[in-house]
Amino acid sequence: MLKRFNPEDYLILVVDDAPMNLQIVGSMLDETGYATTFANNGSQAISRFKAAQPDLVLLDLMMPGVDGLEVCSALKATYPEIPIIFLTASHESEHLLQAFEQGAADYVTKPFSKPELLARVKTHLMLKHTFSELRTALVEMERLAKTDGLTGLLNRRYLFEAATQELSRAQRYGRAFSVLMVDIDHFKRINDTYGHPVGDVVIQTVASVLTEALREVDLIGRYGGEEFSIILPETPLQKATEVAERIREMINSLPIPAGSENLHITVSTGISGCEGGVQSIDEIFHQADKALYQAKSAGRNTWVVFTQ
Ligand code: GH3
Ligand code: MG
Ligand code: MG
Repeated sequence: MLKRFNPEDYLILVVDDAPMNLQIVGSMLDETGYATTFANNGSQAISRFKAAQPDLVLLDLMMPGVDGLEVCSALKATYPEIPIIFLTASHESEHLLQAFEQGAADYVTKPFSKPELLARVKTHLMLKHTFSELRTALVEMERLAKTDGLTGLLNRRYLFEAATQELSRAQRYGRAFSVLMVDIDHFKRINDTYGHPVGDVVIQTVASVLTEALREVDLIGRYGGEEFSIILPETPLQKATEVAERIREMINSLPIPAGSENLHITVSTGISGCEGGVQSIDEIFHQADKALYQAKSAGRNTWVVFTQ
């Protein structure tokens, strides 16, 4: 939700070598509710900016010493998104083009018209505010689009996309990668005995064990209810069996608190990989699934590597 625009949330830096102008502009902004801070020369403007981190700058174009254009280009180099509005006398209009080239957002001409000054200030603050809210929302949407709500692991769709990329990388560079399909054994019993919320905790616990057991580069996803899928880049099948065994042991020896007692669970894992010239990621997942089925038939709490 976009926050309502409230002038009190914003700090404006006003820069002018004429104390009279600082006073006029300052009181226009103060009356509206903005917070203000001031500088009366170019170098003071830059240090004031760094110290106060304002949301917008009203900047006199012509000043002795470091002038407005220099201040603008110095600020823009470090803070490219800061809106800078120039304060200019009408006879200075030939400098406006340079001001815009330096990244100015807008200008106001002297003598100042209060409604005009306030309208321009508000427009640029709102733009900046909306932009940053949109960016935050976008980051959050990207996160939601690729993760599973219960565990925070990758969701099935994203995992599949990532796996497809991994396969084409592996084919291009002749590298091996492996896929593990990990499924909690007799999970239905946990739900039936302790209830769905405890079942959820068990799923979350397995998710954290997997995250802890694996490397940063490995992709871990929740494939379905109590089934997880893992992609191990640059990992041949032999190495993948060691990973599967490590996961099996970690889960097997892990007590999960449920009320007054501790639960013990096990997992079964099917392993497949891109060795043997598979053509598609569907095929690899299908093979891992078959191997998982064999691990279940073999008595669970074990892993099986797919063989033709
Ligand atoms: P197996 O050893 O053969 O894998 O048996 P299982 O009981 O683990 O497998 P089954 O597929 O029979 O049951 C899985 C259960 O997982 C059924 C489903 O209701 C439950 N489930 C699926 N998603 C969730 C979830 O998000 N939370 C909880 N608590 N349970 C879930
Ligand atoms: Mg299961
Ligand atoms: Mg299952």
